[in-house]
Amino acid sequence: MTESHHPQGGGPDFTTALRDASLRVTKPRLAVLNAVHEHPHADTDTVIGHVRANLGAVSHQAVYDVLRALTDAGIVRRIQPAGATARYEARVGDNHHHVVCRSCGTIADVDCAVGHAPCLTASHDHGFVVEEAEVVYWGTCPDCAAAGTASTTPPTTTARPSISKQPEGTT
Ligand SMILES: [Zn+2]
Ligand SMILES: [Zn+2]
Repeated sequence: MTESHHPQGGGPDFTTALRDASLRVTKPRLAVLNAVHEHPHADTDTVIGHVRANLGAVSHQAVYDVLRALTDAGIVRRIQPAGATARYEARVGDNHHHVVCRSCGTIADVDCAVGHAPCLTASHDHGFVVEEAEVVYWGTCPDCAAAGTASTTPPTTTARPSISKQPEGTT
């Protein structure tokens, strides 16, 4: 969470991050990394918008390709809550979770318990080598709760707690 050092005196060192991941340092990659860092949980269109504001004409495909390369390299994390478009963030490697607003789709980070990641330990792993646990908390953000838009169209039940864990695959 704490940015360790700012070698150039302005923001994190994306050049080093790319080099450390054995990726060539290119302007589109730097621009995408910057956009993802400045706008955590942005979707692809948002990232494209920021990259274009920064670099001028860049094709959708180029940004998709960069996002994929950065995600594959582990510099960027891709999250995709059920029913939502893919979002990207630069906060990687800590297995943090997300709380998602059912009304407006706002996403915020939720830390794991400090010191260990209890949700990574399956009660029964069925012999699988488990690498990742995905937890999404669904609820209503403060803005939507204040605006009273929370209860528009709950998918299944109305009498849910405002924040609940929803395992994948529930229909
Ligand atoms: Zn909301
Ligand atoms: Zn996050």
